[in-house]
Amino acid sequence: MTAKTTVKPTARLIEVFSAIQGEGLNVGTRQIFVRFALCDLRCHFCDSAHTWNAPSTCKIERTPGLRDFEVHSNPVPLPILLEWVERQNLPSLHDSISLTGGEPLLHAPFLALFLPQVRDITNLPIYLETGGHRPEQLAIILPYLDSVGMDFKLPSVSGESYWQEHAECLKLCHDSHLNVFIKIIVSQTTDPTELERAALLVAAVSPEIPVFLQPVTPLADSEKLTAKSILAPSPDQVLKWQALMKKFVPHVRVVPQTHKMLNQL
Ligand code: SF4
Repeated sequence: MTAKTTVKPTARLIEVFSAIQGEGLNVGTRQIFVRFALCDLRCHFCDSAHTWNAPSTCKIERTPGLRDFEVHSNPVPLPILLEWVERQNLPSLHDSISLTGGEPLLHAPFLALFLPQVRDITNLPIYLETGGHRPEQLAIILPYLDSVGMDFKLPSVSGESYWQEHAECLKLCHDSHLNVFIKIIVSQTTDPTELERAALLVAAVSPEIPVFLQPVTPLADSEKLTAKSILAPSPDQVLKWQALMKKFVPHVRVVPQTHKMLNQL
């Protein structure tokens, strides 16, 4: 008789901590952030290049918001991650759990097991931040999500191009009645025809989906791993681009990254 071996689910993490969300529809709310390692994109403006590869250790905040990190080995078994999230979940403190990265959808099989359990334990809504380019993986975890912040990557700014995948991901979220919004990073080099294409793509799914234009935050010297220096757009550019997109979708807001203003992690 052959012995049956069961693979225990594990995830490669960067960090777990409690913070104020600085982007998109949930801006200003308090979240437990679970930041996953690995990303398959290489956006020119990336401020999380440290997530591209899986480190041998991850940082876990002991007390919500105090940045009193413990260091643990990767990969992390599912029950241990549940314990860490539960420890963060002080009564009445958090509005939701944020799955971020990197690209969390690279961990879809793990998330399909983890999310129902973490929801049972915390009773908190689950929010996914994604590059919006992996519809197959998104479909796997869709039933466990409450809201999704999806990037549209403009080729003129990010160097990445995933129009078809963005359309598929957005449709999946909309058809599942999730609270979804689009985030588009804009810089001085933004091609307005790409913004028009993005607006038409959103309108084709539903004109009611909110779009956030996020002026790129210039990278600190220590973050300039991708070598290209990307400049924030001028006020004049942003005003024009918002007007351009509002011809097709009514809810276009311009919001910079507020967590950087607060000097938050
Ligand atoms: S998808 Fe996010 S983490 Fe990945 S390269 Fe782009 S900005 Fe960085």
